[in-house]
Amino acid sequence: MVDRVLRVPALPKPGETVMAHSAAVHPGGKGANQAVAAARCGARVRMLGRTGSEGEFIVRELAAAGVETASIQTGDAMSGFAAVMVADDGMNSIVIASEANGRISDADIDAFLGCAKRHEFVLMQNECSGLAHAVAAARTRGVGIWLNAAPMGDAVRQIDLGALACLLVNEHELAALTDLGEPEAALDRLANAWPKLDIVVTLGAAGWIARVDGALLSGRAIPVEAIDTVGCGDAFVGALAALRCAGMPWIDALARANAAGALAATKAGAMPSIPDRCAIESMTQRSM
Ligand code: ADP
Repeated sequence: MVDRVLRVPALPKPGETVMAHSAAVHPGGKGANQAVAAARCGARVRMLGRTGSEGEFIVRELAAAGVETASIQTGDAMSGFAAVMVADDGMNSIVIASEANGRISDADIDAFLGCAKRHEFVLMQNECSGLAHAVAAARTRGVGIWLNAAPMGDAVRQIDLGALACLLVNEHELAALTDLGEPEAALDRLANAWPKLDIVVTLGAAGWIARVDGALLSGRAIPVEAIDTVGCGDAFVGALAALRCAGMPWIDALARANAAGALAATKAGAMPSIPDRCAIESMTQRSM
């Protein structure tokens, strides 16, 4: 996904036109951001995706971050498109169009998962076509399935959550999934419905709550001067997946994911703001 980012004084209301401070183009997409976040956290990451030729710079960024990009095709007419607005208070508003990522085929997914090992995780988002097929194919292969149910939509609602090892959502996605506005109550409902599923809910500047290995856990966000919260969730999810894949206990991995999310809020852009393991570790130690 190519992020086209406008920095605005305040997010426009419906029907309103506002003058931006600036415009910029960044590599983005939840999948790419999370792949970079996991790689910067030390995981070995392969990524499946598609772009147009104007998205080739993203593939170069991924490779520079250490992500294996051989499964990313770049021949489409148009890359995925994200129209991002970031306001002076750090709040954001985002519209995306999948474009190339909407043309990922079941055959692409089968080829990608064909060499997956049982100890590996596959981390999915809802920005691409083939989500249901990918869940079914990964389940058949016995690979641990993590789903960041973002953006929320019908494709997510049709997934059998019992097939997942871990569901990751922000508070808005959680509310849309459960029809409950209060995150603790919504988590409780999901946790009761899916007793074996690990569930992690990010709450922006309020931190996170989770039900993992049957236990309820929570953490406050680390106070930082937030200048751009785009990519916070991706930094959190990618770091958490990498650290869990490396065998770190949930509570320690969640503390570091929380630090990754906080660090991402302190820099502009999504991919450029994703911290590495060293920065995450020092932020985690400072916050204790
Ligand atoms: P998303 O980007 O998916 O909406 P969130 O906004 O919930 O995700 O943020 C993900 C995580 O990033 C939070 O759980 C928290 O750890 C961290 N985070 C987000 N915003 C801030 C902030 N303003 N200050 C500190 N940490 C933040």
